[in-house]
Amino acid sequence: MRTTLTLHAALRKSLVIALTLFTWTAASADLPGGSVIVASHPLATDAGLEMMRKGGSAVDAAIAAQLVMSLVEPQSSGIGGGLFLVSWQAKSKKLETYDGRETAPKSVTPNLFLGADGKPLSFVDAVVGGRSAGVPGVIATLWLAHKEHGTLPWADLFQPAIALAESGFPVSPRLVKVIAMVPSLALIPDTAAYFRPGGKALAVGDILKNSAYAQTLRTIAAKGPDGFYKGAVGQAIVDAIVKAPRGAVALTLNDLASYKPKKRQPVCGTYRAYKICGMGPPSSGGVTSLQILKMLERFDIAGMTPMSAQAIHVFAQAQRLAFADRAAYLADPDFVSVPLKGLLNPVYLARRSRLISLTSVLAQVQPGNPKGADRTLRRLRIPDNSKPSTAHISIMDRNGNVVSMTTTVEGPFGSHLMAGGFILNNQLTDFAFEPRTGNQGFANAPQAGKRPLSSMAPTLVFDAKGKLFAVMGSPGGWRIIPYVTKTLIGMIDWKMDTASAIALPNIASRSGPVEIEDGRGLDKVAGELKTLGHEVRFVEQTSGLNGFRITAQGIDAAADKRKEGTVAAD
Ligand code: GLU
Repeated sequence: MRTTLTLHAALRKSLVIALTLFTWTAASADLPGGSVIVASHPLATDAGLEMMRKGGSAVDAAIAAQLVMSLVEPQSSGIGGGLFLVSWQAKSKKLETYDGRETAPKSVTPNLFLGADGKPLSFVDAVVGGRSAGVPGVIATLWLAHKEHGTLPWADLFQPAIALAESGFPVSPRLVKVIAMVPSLALIPDTAAYFRPGGKALAVGDILKNSAYAQTLRTIAAKGPDGFYKGAVGQAIVDAIVKAPRGAVALTLNDLASYKPKKRQPVCGTYRAYKICGMGPPSSGGVTSLQILKMLERFDIAGMTPMSAQAIHVFAQAQRLAFADRAAYLADPDFVSVPLKGLLNPVYLARRSRLISLTSVLAQVQPGNPKGADRTLRRLRIPDNSKPSTAHISIMDRNGNVVSMTTTVEGPFGSHLMAGGFILNNQLTDFAFEPRTGNQGFANAPQAGKRPLSSMAPTLVFDAKGKLFAVMGSPGGWRIIPYVTKTLIGMIDWKMDTASAIALPNIASRSGPVEIEDGRGLDKVAGELKTLGHEVRFVEQTSGLNGFRITAQGIDAAADKRKEGTVAAD
């Protein structure tokens, strides 16, 4: 499947651009007429831009970019995974959200992640192998979005990824780094062989080919979703899971054929003069971010120095309150009654906000009691490992149509299983590992046909006149929520441009300590927070934020310097 040690000149150029030009500003890309794409890898950015140059829409660009990401960033996202896509149609002013989350196969029971001793499996035992893989949602969801908003022929969107899979792509520094971070890849010999060709570790710039993926793409290009969920590719997915060297479970062709993307109601709320919209359950991204912002509204954040002790204090307290609600109430709304209106009710959030004091730290945080809450269901177990996976794409085409899409195979290299040249997700480990505690069930317990709770937060921001103001998203597991919220506060309260807002130190607090991004010179601030009563931890927080603002001067777009994303525009 691979490799020569020569780096193709054109591809090397892309890589060099990725390493040096992480941010970019188009001061004069007036709209309509200009297009912009920010993706997590330079080759994905190129593929999306190429589609828009051919007259493609934002959705077309997102599809071409995703198919490339599946190849060049297999640690993050791909056609064996799931996504959430927010679409904005400029002319009709139509906002739509697509739920392409993976679904638990029919054989899944609430005991999915319990061992023979009735105790939860270790994370590696749960993740690596067939048990963790949900029915992938990417292809069916992109097909639906294309049917509704694509302009180029479906098959044309596959050409950049097919060409790269056949000729090979230069392995990026991040792919090399993440392979080294995931020794469990060795547990699945076929996958290990792809990432360690000839038993030798891949080096930056090696050319990696993937003819199996090229063949899979050709099939889906010709047959649409049937080329993925049925036939040879469908059978390869089933075989990889039922014959997995570890955690083999039952997943059938019927499970694959039954997959349905779901259009959900967007979740919107206001923060100061802006309207912020995003993904509703089964993602917690939109709801939890909106809760944090609304609780912060009564504070003069604009008057606080960015990431001063005071600003971090209130931000962290609001996060803890919102995460307590998330743990209690959010899950797949097709299985659990989610009190969405109650959770976003401004009166309820004003009451929750009053729990935050400027001079003391909340000792204990309990979920609130929003209207409509089912209090028989309780806490979600959220594993606290940092996951160098997942990716976000922000796109606007020349007609002002927008896609904000966060996409993932869950953890790095998903379940570590491969079929048809792509990685199969481990999304089911986003379910609670235990179905209940005592006699209280978990809202997010595994169940056949259910979708695990997510944190992904593809976001759109509109100004007071309803004009699109910003597009944003990030990877980062549960920290996606603080990453995206921080960036919105930077743009709205501190009037920062996109690059500066993304560059702000990351601050995350879920259920106790305040996590401050390591290496950002915040030691003095940490001391002040400790004096106030906070437990503080310095944690590496590798967000992969990307997005753009639309200002009177034009589009101001940026990709997070913490990762390999790039911006391109016409
Ligand atoms: N599986 C996670 C979610 O859906 C995303 C993982 C990550 O961002 O690293 O929330």
